[in-house]
Amino acid sequence: MKEFQLIEHFFNRRGQTRRDVELGIGDDCALVQAAPNKSIAISCDTLVENVHFYPDIPPQALGYKSLAVNLSDLASMGAEPAWMTLALTLPDVDETWLEQFSTGLFDAAEYYGVSLIGGDTTRGPRAISITINGLVPTGTALTRSGAKNGDWIYVTGTLGDSALGLDVIRGNRRVDVEYNEYLINRHYYPTPRVLAGQSLRNLATSAIDLSDGLASDILHVLKRSQVGAVIDVDLLPLSQAVKDSVSEQEAISYALTGGEDYELLFTVPEAQKGALETALANACVEFTQVGQVTSDKQLRLIRNGEAFNLTNIGFEHFS
Ligand code: ADP
Ligand code: MG
Repeated sequence: MKEFQLIEHFFNRRGQTRRDVELGIGDDCALVQAAPNKSIAISCDTLVENVHFYPDIPPQALGYKSLAVNLSDLASMGAEPAWMTLALTLPDVDETWLEQFSTGLFDAAEYYGVSLIGGDTTRGPRAISITINGLVPTGTALTRSGAKNGDWIYVTGTLGDSALGLDVIRGNRRVDVEYNEYLINRHYYPTPRVLAGQSLRNLATSAIDLSDGLASDILHVLKRSQVGAVIDVDLLPLSQAVKDSVSEQEAISYALTGGEDYELLFTVPEAQKGALETALANACVEFTQVGQVTSDKQLRLIRNGEAFNLTNIGFEHFS
């Protein structure tokens, strides 16, 4: 199978097309219609074999996850997904692999309403790079830079599942059989908080998606917003699977430093708390208050009212 046949067969076929796509796959460029009063949010994420994923990842999960991690970036800005391009680097043309990969990719694309409008296909060590484009009403995008002293800090969903799931997949940890599938799926099929992100427009003062773990991702918000934060580690939302599978200390470590949860962390002023509850209930998203923004420009973790030191729970080991 030649490159153009491969594109036609696996990637052009299922591309459900949005009405604002004037010209999709097949020409030198794609053409999309610029929407009035909207800004285009653009982000690119690359997954490289043996760096971001292991060769034994199910191709369907890889296809799904490649898009999900990009969608998560749109979510954190409050943007609505629209179009994507796909740069695929493959060692060979393995049709079974491509069938499964494209199934996972288009499952996510269809669910979130993204059209595949172009890409590039090259031979080399396996890598997937997606550039995602989303739309957001001009002036309403959420950024990392708006957190203010006194704002409350929230996260969506539960933290630490993905990292524990990876340990289960790699055979580094055993969990009760009833939690196996849940944890593995949380690692392979993260849920980008697309609707939650859009619901936070005009409510949150800042937002970021948690890809590396709360303890390091929150620092980006603090730096860009020129503020500090206090996080109560006892408030971190943990799934039953994490609570029942590891010690309290380990659970905190997974939640703070595990990474790849793709939940949102965001800040909301006191005056917007009521509106926030309504907005996220309408979006059917669970969220938890975990701390507060401070003026002292540093991150403080507390537990039972006392300072909590990350290194005590082997931060280096888990990072
Ligand atoms: P060019 O040589 O102009 O870069 P290509 O032969 O690389 O063109 O691509 C032909 C068409 O197929 C283009 O419209 C491109 O966007 C699209 N395309 C190439 N690879 C992919 C892919 N993996 N997924 C989606 N579209 C692709
Ligand atoms: Mg090309």
